[in-house]
Amino acid sequence: MKLTIGHMYPDLLNLYGDRGNIIALKKRCEWRKIDVEIKEIKAGINENFADIDLLFFGGGSDREQKIVSEDLKSKKKNLIKAIEDGMPVLAICGGYQLLGEYYKTLEGNKIEGLGILDAYTVASNKRLIGNIVVEAHLFNKKFYLVGFENHSGKTFLRNCSPLGTVIIGYGNNGEDKKEGCVYKNVYGTYLHGPLLPKNPEMADILIETALSRKYGKINFEPLEDSIEQRAKEAFIKRFMKK
Ligand code: GLN
Repeated sequence: MKLTIGHMYPDLLNLYGDRGNIIALKKRCEWRKIDVEIKEIKAGINENFADIDLLFFGGGSDREQKIVSEDLKSKKKNLIKAIEDGMPVLAICGGYQLLGEYYKTLEGNKIEGLGILDAYTVASNKRLIGNIVVEAHLFNKKFYLVGFENHSGKTFLRNCSPLGTVIIGYGNNGEDKKEGCVYKNVYGTYLHGPLLPKNPEMADILIETALSRKYGKINFEPLEDSIEQRAKEAFIKRFMKK
């Protein structure tokens, strides 16, 4: 089996180790003998997303988000088609904001998003920074996600589901305890850190979804993740105490 992972704007959206998510996806596929091709999708490149099995967006500053927002206009039609067809997507922070309707900067400028997530983001004076623990509910499984967040944007969900409930930290907006957003196989989240090496369950949800979409029923073997799980437990214990 083989997966093609699309890395959106790797030169513009890559904050706080977000590239580590690509490395984690690649490694977890290789450990299962699944071939991986990483396709970098940059501004100005024409992409129809038909041969992309899994798509990743990292975070970026307002300046970079503006450039990406302009470029997404030409990619929007094909990207939405692939998402509606079930392509799994992971988008972090600035990338997450760009999948929503818009991101309104502190100066009041609206940076247009794809509008695939029924959510909008408004910048605030206070940056929401720190370690974060989230309780996620996905596919009838409950598990913790740990990470680090750093954003000024506050995201508000309308008619869409959060990825989980904030236990420690701010999440979408620091007000309603919601973190991230899920639509079809699209996951938006504020968790940098990077997210996937710290939370292998999330990496495997993306990989398994991509494989079943491409190959139908597959035999998806679990990996030995005891070190990752111990690290996560230590993280949770440490920050729950404070
Ligand atoms: N510019 C956005 C914000 O501060 C996104 C930042 C990020 O991706 N970390 O809200």
